[in-house]
Amino acid sequence: MTLSYEQALSVVREKLAQSRPQPAGEVVPLDEARGRILAEAVTADRDYPPFHRSTRDGFALRSGDLSALPAGLRSLGEIRAGEYFSGKVGPGQCVSIMTGAPLPDGADAVVMVEHTRASGDLVEILRAVASWENVVRRGSETPAGATVLPRGRRLGAGELGLLATVGRARVSVFRQPIVAILPTGDEIVPVDRRPEWFQIRNSNAITLTAQVVAAGGCPRRLEIAPDRPEALRALVEEGLRADLLLLSGGVSMGKYDYVEKVLAELGAEFYFTSVAIRPGKPLVFGRAREKFFFGLPGNPVSTYVTFEVFVRPALALLGGAPFEPPVFLRARLARPLQHRLGLRAFMPARVELRQGDPVVELVAWQGSGDLVGVAAANCFLVLPPEQTDLAAGDWVEVLPKPG
Ligand code: AMP
Ligand code: MG
Repeated sequence: MTLSYEQALSVVREKLAQSRPQPAGEVVPLDEARGRILAEAVTADRDYPPFHRSTRDGFALRSGDLSALPAGLRSLGEIRAGEYFSGKVGPGQCVSIMTGAPLPDGADAVVMVEHTRASGDLVEILRAVASWENVVRRGSETPAGATVLPRGRRLGAGELGLLATVGRARVSVFRQPIVAILPTGDEIVPVDRRPEWFQIRNSNAITLTAQVVAAGGCPRRLEIAPDRPEALRALVEEGLRADLLLLSGGVSMGKYDYVEKVLAELGAEFYFTSVAIRPGKPLVFGRAREKFFFGLPGNPVSTYVTFEVFVRPALALLGGAPFEPPVFLRARLARPLQHRLGLRAFMPARVELRQGDPVVELVAWQGSGDLVGVAAANCFLVLPPEQTDLAAGDWVEVLPKPG
């Protein structure tokens, strides 16, 4: 039975969520933590900001002193970032303050230096400010002890900066899932070998390796399996020792497509063997020897797209993060388009801003084998299975092409 895209995605989510192995943690320094998944909740070690912080260069003062403008105040001194003022600002007084410096006692706002005129220690204030204007109050970003990063959060540059801010030089992260990559096909030869005219280089293993790394997995590439059940079986068994097995090719209806047969002999449970998408319809998902596997169709664009749409979210779950389904954005069609597939289509395209709107245009491509088209694209235009006649300017969905 062929599942819809949405059905297939929820099957992947359910199966992985049910029997998700809890990955053991390891402690890594921040510089090695990018892309990893937090195995602990991280709390703020103190209030943030730790003091009432000026966001401007200007004068710290009492906002109530500015009822009549210009207001003449007397400056008591200067506070640079990295210093503090030990006195107190009283009525009619102010202190020159720099961005990032702590607000002195008694003051409740900062007036930007642009709105003042100073001569000696006399300062004329030309504009009023509200209480706490140009100040970030102590603890307003987070109070001490509050969780700033939950367990399961993927660590990117911003999260790493936050960990550094709260003084966590090392953090506990989940073990990265090991992902076996098993290319199949008698016509497939290693990239460093000169192919005969009837042979094809093993590009899928390279694509998948890059995708696994980007998705936070640890790729383990196996040798190319020939289209012979015994040889294929040995390699599948090896692949099932990893946390997840990705096969490429051999899942169509061809006479020598043995992947499903071999998996069935190994006692596999198949959750689906066909999804109403193009490219990628013969996608297989199941479990054997307690391990999940995906049989990805061998056409290079099918492999690429099915990984992005189904394997990437699955890997997030296996790695200890929440399920991260693909997020489709919207853009306007550059040209009219007829869609008669009855399948959800993912077509290489380019999206760019034109007069303020995102506009998407298909790139030339020859179908699911054509990586030239994918390389020229910066997104996939995503069309629903329903038949539609779309006009130029209609809003459609796009899946940004990940790096
Ligand atoms: P299959 O899914 O095995 O029927 O293969 C579909 C198409 O994808 C065929 O044209 C294969 O030559 C091609 N193909 C399969 N595996 C790979 C691979 N590892 N690298 C590049 N192309 C592949
Ligand atoms: Mg094949």
